[in-house]
Amino acid sequence: MSGATVRATGIVTVVLAGLLASAYVLGRSLVPEQHTTTTGVASSTAGPHYADQPPSTEFPAAPGRALPDTSPDADPSAPDSGDDGPGPFGARTATGSARVALTFDDGPDPRWTPQVLALLSQYGVKATFCVVGENVESHPDLLRSIVAEGHTVCNHSWRHDVDLGKRSPETIRADLLRTNDAILAAAPDAHIAYYRQPGGAWTASVVSVCAELGLTPLHWNVDPSDWKAPGATTIEATVRTQTGPGAIVLMHDAGGDRSGTVAALQRLLPELLSRFELEPLPVDAP
Ligand SMILES: [Zn+2]
Repeated sequence: MSGATVRATGIVTVVLAGLLASAYVLGRSLVPEQHTTTTGVASSTAGPHYADQPPSTEFPAAPGRALPDTSPDADPSAPDSGDDGPGPFGARTATGSARVALTFDDGPDPRWTPQVLALLSQYGVKATFCVVGENVESHPDLLRSIVAEGHTVCNHSWRHDVDLGKRSPETIRADLLRTNDAILAAAPDAHIAYYRQPGGAWTASVVSVCAELGLTPLHWNVDPSDWKAPGATTIEATVRTQTGPGAIVLMHDAGGDRSGTVAALQRLLPELLSRFELEPLPVDAP
């Protein structure tokens, strides 16, 4: 090719690249605003929004503790077929008995938490609520209701920091203690025996601080991804088919529109009660 041809080819390439980039940007701008970001944290205009998604690849299993599935789309939160082995970094993934524990994360929330509490009360079921410190501070009355109605309270960090495990031990400790303090300020008789890392993004550091503070790291083994609002039918089907003896089921009573979770719970409670004993995670001997 002559020099002129090479230059012309180069110019055409640059122009094409520019056009492709413009088309990409235009395409992106035409896509409706997603309700989730790449971090999996739901976003909308009202209130704080959180979500628990499976641990990202930034948080591999601890050395010597392989996750059940190492395929590229591995979901460490998936049911482990009755394997009651440790979750990420040893976090608890089973109740340790045949009983099943329902857990509700990210509240308390003035719209959804009372609906979940009412359903649990209607069916005489005790559960576990993993609460966010700033939400406890905003809604101490709801935290008091959770405790007064016999449910177990679990620390879920101050502001749902998915990256908390990557911060210094001092920062992690301060965050967990601030959250404990908010819980105890609202309900002085609360027993806080568990910590659940936002996003399930466990690290050795956060587990170490948990041990120091006497908190049992709490994971799960049934995850209907209700924070993605897949609809009540999907949430119900996932929980119904994946829950077995000893399961810890992850759901949410905050962090976005939880109408699907509430509707699914209404159908699930009688069904689960016909198959299992449901328990709040024990606070005295975790
Ligand atoms: Zn959460």
